[in-house]
Amino acid sequence: MRAFVAEKTDDDVTRGVRDDFELEGADGVVVDVEYSSVNYKDGLATIAKGQVARISPLVPGIDLAGRTADGQAVLAHGYGLGVSQHGGYAEQARVPSEWLVPLPDGLSARQAMAIGTAGYTAARCVMALEAAGLAPGAGPVLVTGASGGVGSTAVDILAARGYEVVASSGKDPAWLKALGASEVISREEAAGDASRPLEKTRWAGAVDCVGGAVLAGVVRALSYGGAVAACGNTGGVKLEATVLPFILRGVSLLGVDSVQTPIEARRETWARLATDLRPPHLDEAITREVGLDGLEDALSAVLRGELQGRTVVRVA
Ligand code: NDP
Repeated sequence: MRAFVAEKTDDDVTRGVRDDFELEGADGVVVDVEYSSVNYKDGLATIAKGQVARISPLVPGIDLAGRTADGQAVLAHGYGLGVSQHGGYAEQARVPSEWLVPLPDGLSARQAMAIGTAGYTAARCVMALEAAGLAPGAGPVLVTGASGGVGSTAVDILAARGYEVVASSGKDPAWLKALGASEVISREEAAGDASRPLEKTRWAGAVDCVGGAVLAGVVRALSYGGAVAACGNTGGVKLEATVLPFILRGVSLLGVDSVQTPIEARRETWARLATDLRPPHLDEAITREVGLDGLEDALSAVLRGELQGRTVVRVA
């Protein structure tokens, strides 16, 4: 079958399309893959210093949507997919049945992958913030790294739910405003003044895809009782903070992980992504569609931070 494969060499990784790749073993449900997508982690899985790939050769692709042999429409993402087991960048995948999520009514395979791992993570961030008490009308909600897959879907979901959304981005503000952001600020403005332990309160809540100095700035500017859902690290893994926002303003730092969510919570989240958490601009969020042959380019672009919105991969 055709597959995009990353394989370790002595000190590098070769990557490209192969026409005769075979899936070994007989475990798992065979899924005929229709769509996958491009995430930052997929880029990392194809470079030597990415430290994501656990096997070699590896078919990357941390998410996929397709059909089982009995015709059931399914999707899967996270756990070991595209990391320690072959993922979505191939005509077929073998997926443990306990990782499969039925494709919710009202979503096509292409739309499910327009959401993909990124949109799923955005939904988990919104759910975490609302579980912590955030509600529309509380004040501005900041989304950092807003032009990326997670960020742009978070903007879309939050705006549709009636929040006043402020986007922080290094890219085109017009596109983010079309998704529902009321204001777009620079990455520097979101990072604020690192020399101060507290800043003027500004955000009722936040979805942070960037980490580093930006997340530290968000924590310093959360309103009393506010919360930030932290899910990403494109701006760095260090977090330099004081305890003051936590002990003087009662703010919360909520960690969000998409990889190990238990399957029941995962299926519920997908059911909500098709209904009350559905991003209304799903089709506009797909800024690029590539086949397996276009992956090399798209993976390089995601690693350079150049992709805007979602890139879906048409496999079948
Ligand atoms: P994308 O590459 O699509 O988006 C990342 C965005 O981050 C960019 O578009 C850019 O937005 C911003 N950015 C890039 N480089 C920098 C930089 N040096 N400093 C500040 N901002 C930068 O990635 P995804 O949306 O797919 O993922 C976002 C993050 O979330 C990643 O770190 C990813 O690993 C993580 N993630 C975590 C998950 C989890 O389970 N916790 C699941 C999915 C993703 P802009 O130009 O608008 O500022």
